[in-house]
Amino acid sequence: MTFCVRCGKEGRTYESLCVDCFLANNRFTKAPDHVDLFQCYHCKEFQLRGKWQRQGLEEAIREAARDGLEVRKGADVAKVRMEVQEADPRNYHVEMRVGLEHEDLRMEEENRTTVRLKNTVCPRCSKIMGSYYESIIQVRGRERKLTEAQQERILQALQSKVEEAQAENREMFITKLEQVPGGFDAFLSSISLAKGIAHELADRHGAEVKESSTLVTQKEGRDVYRVTFLVRLPSYMRGEVVLHKGRPHLVVSITASKTKLQDLRTHEPVMMSNVDLRDARVVAKRQDVLEAVVLSESKRELQVMHPRTFATVELKKPQGFEAQGESVRVLIYEEELYLLPYASKPSIS
Ligand SMILES: [Zn+2]
Ligand SMILES: [Zn+2]
Repeated sequence: MTFCVRCGKEGRTYESLCVDCFLANNRFTKAPDHVDLFQCYHCKEFQLRGKWQRQGLEEAIREAARDGLEVRKGADVAKVRMEVQEADPRNYHVEMRVGLEHEDLRMEEENRTTVRLKNTVCPRCSKIMGSYYESIIQVRGRERKLTEAQQERILQALQSKVEEAQAENREMFITKLEQVPGGFDAFLSSISLAKGIAHELADRHGAEVKESSTLVTQKEGRDVYRVTFLVRLPSYMRGEVVLHKGRPHLVVSITASKTKLQDLRTHEPVMMSNVDLRDARVVAKRQDVLEAVVLSESKRELQVMHPRTFATVELKKPQGFEAQGESVRVLIYEEELYLLPYASKPSIS
């Protein structure tokens, strides 16, 4: 049998005291006189438990008050009921009724504190406001300017990638975007972010990426570099016709390293590495494709009406080609007519 070292009462003890003496001689929670709650006056986020987060004011005050509460070792907070009262827009009195558990004991204690709202600038906003950037992605076309649609699409992809990264890490952001002749520049807060995006854009659009860095400063004895990623899009797009070995070829698909072409004379596929097509010249775009009325069709040949001169033209059919319907799609290149395949509709996407 155990007994209380203070009053001698026999029975269950807590740290050598009976229930009454234990509860009478201990306080289990302590609230500081005040708690400072930092809010970024720029983005309005609060710093709670070391992390910047978006939160309603009252919720943030409650969290700050709760975080300021000290709890005696061995006791657990089961529930906290709070009442927040505004003293003035910068100070809030918080009354807390704290439900506690200690072994098999349940008790409740009252605490009060004042949460003081403090304005500051979070590190992220101070970087943005200081036009901070570590890296630039330069998006350019190879020979020609990017079309507006192309630019819009790439910009959107870039922005959504940044947003994705931002959901995980709020230090990821675009500092500024700049239109330049032939494309645009995106200034980003992180080198690794820019690198990831540059290579993803390259993969998706068959672009080439060139990386260069410049030493900007020294920080605590370490060299600080700024890295530029030049993303150069190929001069051609899917659905366009380029010249290869002197003959027009349709661009069927583009991947990170390869481009699939289709010879417009034979309709045979040709796989090319993007590097080898670097200087490929676009000779026709989607809007250059014309319709030609089919006059007659034999096993090997097709008679069509020339869409410009209306003369009858005989075309040798590529292997397996068969006219579907009353007209076929053709392209005029250097006075000659070429049949376009059905399978891959040229579309500028
Ligand atoms: Zn006792
Ligand atoms: Zn901020």
